[in-house]
Amino acid sequence: MRSVEEALDAILASARLTAAESQPLDRCAGRVAAEHRIVAAADVPPFDNSSMDGFALRAADAPGSLRLAGEVAAGAGALPTVEAGTAVRIMTGAPMPPGADTVAPLEIVAETDGAVWVPTVEMGAYVRRAGHDTRAGETIDLPSEPMSPGTLAVLASLGIAELAVRCRPRVAILSTGDELRAPGEPLAPGQIYDANSVALAAAVTEGGGEAAVLPRVADDPDRIESVVRDAVTDADLLVASGGVSVGRHDHVRDVIQRLGQLDFWRIRMQPGKPLAFGSVGAVPVIGLPGNPVSALVTFELFARPLIRRMLGLSGSGRLTLPVVACEPMPKDTERRAYLRVRLQRGADGLEARSAGGQASSQLRPLADANALLIVPEGEPAAEAGRTYAALVLGAIA
Ligand code: AMP
Ligand code: MG
Repeated sequence: MRSVEEALDAILASARLTAAESQPLDRCAGRVAAEHRIVAAADVPPFDNSSMDGFALRAADAPGSLRLAGEVAAGAGALPTVEAGTAVRIMTGAPMPPGADTVAPLEIVAETDGAVWVPTVEMGAYVRRAGHDTRAGETIDLPSEPMSPGTLAVLASLGIAELAVRCRPRVAILSTGDELRAPGEPLAPGQIYDANSVALAAAVTEGGGEAAVLPRVADDPDRIESVVRDAVTDADLLVASGGVSVGRHDHVRDVIQRLGQLDFWRIRMQPGKPLAFGSVGAVPVIGLPGNPVSALVTFELFARPLIRRMLGLSGSGRLTLPVVACEPMPKDTERRAYLRVRLQRGADGLEARSAGGQASSQLRPLADANALLIVPEGEPAAEAGRTYAALVLGAIA
């Protein structure tokens, strides 16, 4: 049996970077730039401009009463010249008119008919200089993460309309099991609803991939084989769930072995021991355990970093933080456990409490959890008062 780290290394080694495609900037939210450095073609802002609504003037003329000699609005092209003893009304973002070196904001000025009285002003006050955000020729490093609204704003301010981004890895999702029905269909005796298809598709999207949910298949090796063979023709990754354990109706491992290569199929962790990994052709195939909690936890630990690696990103994009367990939380094996917990801010840092039952068939606590508490191999339980690492999945109140 592999450790989590050994399994992750092997899985990440299978990653191939996806191709780059050009996209208009308004379609780049959450995408990963394929170029990491951009050279600014021009200054941002392109010209000196006012940071306040007020009056543009010569600082040497203040304090004093200045004759009002025109107006400049944002976007104005033709500018009046500010002569000695005069001021020009100016709006935020409007270009500084020639002759003026300073802006007096409305709030400090007394306006009378055709003139303004201006107190002493500091030379250059409220003038934003050309290039004060970015200078022409400056190199801008784009963060190695999906692009944030802030990064998109920087690119737009530079006048960039299109960008090369990594194609989203296409992830085929296959749920296997005789007992599975789609939500909305009536259940016959012995049947349950398929929770994994929709949940894993959501996890793929959240991780930066493009999910393609395949039709569910029964525990029939020939059917599974034919669906897998088809799926790998236009996927970058296949994620199956169910049918990877040692039961008489678990066929996914055999199918991977028959069509390609099975690298390993067990990991020293809980939930999620039976996880099969291999490849068919050049396409990595991950067979997750069927229990939805096991499927989602193992997706988080192995499939999410793999999708990110295909996008050229490292790690899981999640925080791992030290937290204090506030209650004992038993685990039921020697293996390393990932307990579903709720983190809260306490007086001395983050506190973890169990989000509910820890059986891998209990989905509600997973939905309620905002973190996975990592309890090391060999320890029988998380002990109250001790510090553990927690993988943060959601917002902390
Ligand atoms: P398996 O990995 O096929 O042995 O399945 C383990 C458990 O997970 C069984 O109780 C299955 O009924 C359940 N299970 C498998 N696939 C799904 C699914 N897609 N949605 C909900 N439960 C599932
Ligand atoms: Mg099954």
